[in-house]
Order: sequence, then structure tokens, then C-alpha cells
Amino acid sequence: MLAQYDIEFITEKGRDSMVSLKERILLAIYDEFETWATQEKIICKKGCRVCCTQNVTMAAVEGDLIHRHIRENGKMEWFAKKMQQKGVTRRPEMTTNGFAAACLQGDDVESGAYGNESGCPFLENDCCAVYEVRPFSCRCFVSEKKCIPGISAVISESYLAASTAVMQIIEHLGQGEYWGNMLDVLLALSDLPENRQYIGLLPASSADQGRAQVVKALPLPGFLFLEEDVEILGPLLQRIFAHKIEEKNIEDILNNR
Ligand code: SF4
Ligand code: SF4
Repeated sequence: MLAQYDIEFITEKGRDSMVSLKERILLAIYDEFETWATQEKIICKKGCRVCCTQNVTMAAVEGDLIHRHIRENGKMEWFAKKMQQKGVTRRPEMTTNGFAAACLQGDDVESGAYGNESGCPFLENDCCAVYEVRPFSCRCFVSEKKCIPGISAVISESYLAASTAVMQIIEHLGQGEYWGNMLDVLLALSDLPENRQYIGLLPASSADQGRAQVVKALPLPGFLFLEEDVEILGPLLQRIFAHKIEEKNIEDILNNR
């Protein structure tokens, strides 16, 4: 469905318009997934926060969305303070598409287990202070049973396959750009021209520290779901790829057609 695409998203000239196109694609993907997920038996409620740890990964385009929200709401000082909170941050060894590529070529890889992470700095009064722009890793983390610290959430295999497929599409959307732990990606983006207001609010080496921890997002090598998941996942992927933005569907935009 997807071929490698080549759009100059990161050039200074025209960056704002291209970033905003990517953000619109991202928001459309979020919306389509949310609509699809209404069929799941999810018990998550406002104020439930066991899952809100520093173990959140995302692509740079998701960081752009958060930074835009921070700028537009004048929350730069709040953000700078939050980013300096100490905690244990776990970092994945490979991206979702890197993991998929390794699996598809038959390599022996493990997805990695996480535990004992510190709470997310964006939690305030047990709620997410950036809820409307939270990354997909947070959006898709749900459970059919109330979570207990240290015990995994309960979700169906098909939900897991669907959320992994969508993560892969989002990584593909941001290929070549930063990918990694949410806090590292946010720091890595903090000295871009549009984020200049952070200069003086964050320690001088913050952006470099973030960049030292992130990796590059990779193109989609193929999906990981099984044949029995196609019936459930097919409609979700079709809806995402057929979603139109400015008269073009997302599949054509991603394929640069
Ligand atoms: S995934 Fe678990 S901890 Fe997170 S909101 Fe849902 S039930 Fe609560
Ligand atoms: S960004 Fe929001 S939803 Fe995600 S882990 Fe942090 S507080 Fe929770």
C-alpha cells in the first residue's frame, strides 16, 4: 500500500506549511483510530493514571503538535519546568518499523519489557495537561480491566495489532525525522526556529541532550499483523488511507502522488 515517499518536510523554507500538512494527516489518523476503537470494551476513565509513565515513544510530528499547543497556549514556562523534572526514562532499542523490519526478515528480536518508570511530567492532578495533543502511544494505551502498577493492561490481540499498525504508519509519516522517547523528542525539537521562546527557559544543552537520545524514524517495511486480523484491521487501514485532506487521500499523500 505504501511506498517510500520523499517530501522535504524539514527545510526551513515552507517548513510551517509542510509541518501543518503532516499534523493534519496525524490528526486524521488519530480520529480514524479513535472511531475504530469504539468497538472495544475499554474501561479507561479520566483520573486513572497508572499508565502515565515516562515510557512513551513518539515521532517528531507528534512533538511538533505538542510544541504548537504549548506555544499557542503560552505555556512555555510551564513546559520548561516540566521538562526539568527528574525521573527514570526508558528508551526503546529500536523503532516500531525497525522492529517490524527485523521480524519480517526473521531476526530473533524482543520488543523489550518496561517497568518501574517514573510518572509522566505532564500529569497534573491525575490528569494529562496536554490531553488533546497527547501522542498516539498514550491514545492507544487502554485496558479492558483496571490496571494495577507493575501488571500489564488487558487488551485484545486485534487491538494490539491495530495500534501497532497505526504506530507504524505514524512512524512512516515522520520517516527520516526524530523518533524516540517523548521527552527526548520534545527536547530535540526545542531549538527549532518556531520554538525560540524556550531559549533561556531551558538549560543550554537541552536540545543537544534530546538529540543524543533519539533515532531516525524509518519507512514502513510491511505490517506485522496475522491473516486472521485482516478482517478487523482492514477497515481501519482503508479508512485511514482513504481519508481525504485537501482533495487528496492520505495514501496518495504518503506515496507523494
Ligand atoms: S490503561 Fe489502565 S491505567 Fe491507563 S487509563 Fe486505562 S485502566 Fe487506567
Ligand atoms: S502525555 Fe499525558 S497521556 Fe501521555 S503519559 Fe503523559 S500524562 Fe499520560
